[in-house]
Amino acid sequence: MSNAYPSISGQFLINGEWVRGAKVTDVTNPAILTEVVGQVALCSKDDVKQAIDAAEQAFPAWASTSAEKRAELVKEASKHLAPIIEQTVPLFVRENGKPQVEAKKDLLRCVEIMSQGADALVKWWQPESIPGGQMVQLRRRPRGVTAVISPWNSPMILTFKRVIPAILAGNTVVVKPATDCPLTVLATLKVVAEHLPPGVINIVTGSGALVGEQICGDPRVRTIAFTGSTETGKRIMSMSSGTVKKLYMELGGNDPALILPDAVLDEVAMQRIRMGILRAAGQVCSAIKRVYVHESRYEEFMGKLTREFGRMIVGNGMQPDAMMGPINNKAQYDYVTGLIERTKQEGAGVETLGIKLDEESWNQGYFLLPSIATGVNQSSELVRAEQFGPIIPVLTYSDLDEVIAMANDTEFGLRASVWTADQQLAESFADRLDAGAVFFNNHTIFQDLHYDFPGLKESGLSRETQMCGIDLFADTYGFAN
Ligand code: NAD
Repeated sequence: MSNAYPSISGQFLINGEWVRGAKVTDVTNPAILTEVVGQVALCSKDDVKQAIDAAEQAFPAWASTSAEKRAELVKEASKHLAPIIEQTVPLFVRENGKPQVEAKKDLLRCVEIMSQGADALVKWWQPESIPGGQMVQLRRRPRGVTAVISPWNSPMILTFKRVIPAILAGNTVVVKPATDCPLTVLATLKVVAEHLPPGVINIVTGSGALVGEQICGDPRVRTIAFTGSTETGKRIMSMSSGTVKKLYMELGGNDPALILPDAVLDEVAMQRIRMGILRAAGQVCSAIKRVYVHESRYEEFMGKLTREFGRMIVGNGMQPDAMMGPINNKAQYDYVTGLIERTKQEGAGVETLGIKLDEESWNQGYFLLPSIATGVNQSSELVRAEQFGPIIPVLTYSDLDEVIAMANDTEFGLRASVWTADQQLAESFADRLDAGAVFFNNHTIFQDLHYDFPGLKESGLSRETQMCGIDLFADTYGFAN
């Protein structure tokens, strides 16, 4: 199919002007590899410099625009984005692979991020008096040029959740979406940028090694909001030390789910576990990536999980019956299929389950049926690595202290879940598990924008705890007598 999105295809945004990339590459549909969804520009170093120039020049005027006016403009832009969500869903499904229902949810959330953030800003931006004998006020100011670098797996929310608070706080931004899934970000930020002064939002696209590093290496960039792998996060941290940039890092995860001896494994719980593992074909930072089941419940749990996985219908996300789409890109598909092979070679049992929605078109996309691996141990690659695909290792344990040690035996610390009938026991586990958030009989994604819990250990930095994340993108300073 030819490119159906000419207005943003192969283009990037500098100072309110859309520019055609001198070099472009195709964005293909992971469900139909012969289908080109559009092109993405491979920006040059000079393109990146111009984007940062534009953000730098637009900063003083935007920073001195009142909080009320900034909120009003963002709110107005959200009203223009809302009516195009429905028509944008197919673009998102075709470049990302996720089913339509999930794609629509993500897009609607972006509108909410804008309207709720705008509502929160004005009250929160007022100087805050600190109680005590002396007059002390806490005041806030924007930081300057902010880079937002986002991944392919959940590109919409993870771009909007950084860009919107950053601009609400009075910063200007240079956005770099992932090359595998950039078009929906371009199409939606186009609408937002049209309602803001030129240069407040600039977008460049291309490889992390060239475009990403050029952004991170520029001393004029004062803040970097990065979501992606721990490996890239570490690289960005080391590049940022020279100019002491403020960093907001959401990195990888290897979330454990702990099934305790008294877990209630009813239909609701099993569906939640299935979705915790297989949402977006497992390509979620906070997906369940390891399951630890008490040995007394192993047979029962395996029977139920096998039934749940067996129900999954896998196919092109554009088809309403598809419950799970393909893997997003070739590198990830090759990694997951290689990992499955290596797990089998280790001697593990890998049971492949689920239903192919369309046998004939199966080999035209990066489709994988969900599978369960047993007979793996704590040192297996599948248990230690972030698989980011629809295969889950299930391990057993006999003792509660032992399972906490197994769950914590990882460099990651994003999320964890405890499945038990006893809330007090779950709370005591939460105190001992290395995770930025511990779920009780659930393993999901936070929907409330007033809090979020980035990871511990190598899963991230900075807590986005209040006011839709706006506080992360502002400097606080004191005024006292
Ligand atoms: P990635 O680290 O390869 O890339 C993320 C972004 O960084 C892309 O835009 C990429 O082009 C850019 N990039 C790559 N190298 C760079 C460099 N040297 N300098 C600057 N930018 C560079 O990650 P990915 O494969 O796109 O995404 C999957 C990873 O993201 C997984 O590890 C997943 O757990 C993580 N993730 C974390 C969260 C979270 O909230 N903690 C959410 C989603 C995804």
